[in-house]
Amino acid sequence: MTQIYSPYLSRRHLLLAGAATLAGGLMPRTALAEAPPLGGTVPGWYRFGIGDIEATIISDGLLNLGSANDQFPNAPQDDIARIMKEEFLPADPMMLEQNCLVLNIANRVVLFDSGIGSDQTFGDKAGRMLRNLQAAGIEPGQVDDVVLTHAHCDHCWGLVADDGALNFPNATVHISQVDFDYWTDEANLSGPGFIPFFVAGARKNLLPYRDRLSFVADGKEVMPGVTAISTPGHTPGHISYVIASGGQTFLNVGDVVHHYALLFENPGWRFAFDSDPGMAAETRLKLFDMAASEEMPMIGYHFPFPGLGNIRREGSAYAYVPIPMVHA
Ligand SMILES: [Zn+2]
Repeated sequence: MTQIYSPYLSRRHLLLAGAATLAGGLMPRTALAEAPPLGGTVPGWYRFGIGDIEATIISDGLLNLGSANDQFPNAPQDDIARIMKEEFLPADPMMLEQNCLVLNIANRVVLFDSGIGSDQTFGDKAGRMLRNLQAAGIEPGQVDDVVLTHAHCDHCWGLVADDGALNFPNATVHISQVDFDYWTDEANLSGPGFIPFFVAGARKNLLPYRDRLSFVADGKEVMPGVTAISTPGHTPGHISYVIASGGQTFLNVGDVVHHYALLFENPGWRFAFDSDPGMAAETRLKLFDMAASEEMPMIGYHFPFPGLGNIRREGSAYAYVPIPMVHA
C-alpha cells in the first residue's frame, strides 16, 4: 500500500490506515540494503548574507557548564528549574553552543572569536572551529582579521596551536585595550578563583600576536561595515559589534547574553563568570532595549546553532525568537 503524507490527512487517518495494513496480513518489509549508523557530528557551518557581506557561522561545538544553579548562584533555583523544564532542556548539565562568525567583506576574511582550542575544561564536544572552518571552504591562512569580543577561554584560546604556532599566521587581532591589558597582566596570575587559569591561557594565545594587534574603541569602525560598541561587565573591556551593509544590520552580542532561555526572561541575573555581574546586567538591559527598539537581529555566540535571532519585548522582560535558516 502506498502511504500518502499530506497535511490534510489527520494523524488518526494515518493510524487507521496502518492498522488496516497490518490487519490485512502484510508484514513491514525488511531492509534490502545494509545501512549501519554513521555517527559523526552535526553540520558545522551555515552561510547567509548581511547586505553585500557574505557571512558564515562556524561552530566550535558545545560547552558543558555543569549545573545552571552553580552558574547563576543568586537566581531563584525554582525559576531555573521551571524555565529549563519548559524549554525541555536539562538544568544539569547546562550546555552552550559556540558560534564563531566569519565575514567576507570586500575580499577580506574576518573571523569573530576563535573558539576554545584544544582545552577540555568544558568537555570534549568543543574545539571544532578549525575543522569546521575548513569544511566551510575557508583556510586559516586566508583569515586577515580576528576580531575578539573578549579574552575568555572560549573566545580566544583557538588563536594558537598547542605548540604555540599561530593558527592564523596572516591575521591582525582586534581587541579592546582594556581586555588585552587585564587578561595578559602577569599580576592577575595570582588573582582569585578562575582568573589565573584564564589569564595564563589568554597570555599564551594573545601575546604571540602582540606585534599585530589593533585596539578597538567604542563607536569606532573596525573596518567598513563593522562598528565596535563597548559592552563591559562580562569582562572589563567586553565589546559587541554592529555589522551593517545594504540596509541590513546584525548585532554580534558576544557574551552580553549567553543562555537564550534564562537571560532574555531574566536579564538581571548574575552569571558566575562575569567580572562585574552588576555592570553586566546593566549592559544587558541597555543592549536589549536598543536591539528591541531598533528591531535589530542578533548573532549570539552561545545561542543554539547557528545563533541568529530576534528579540521581542515581553512586559519588563524579553524573549528570544530564533531566525529560521534560509536556503541560498
Ligand atoms: Zn563565552
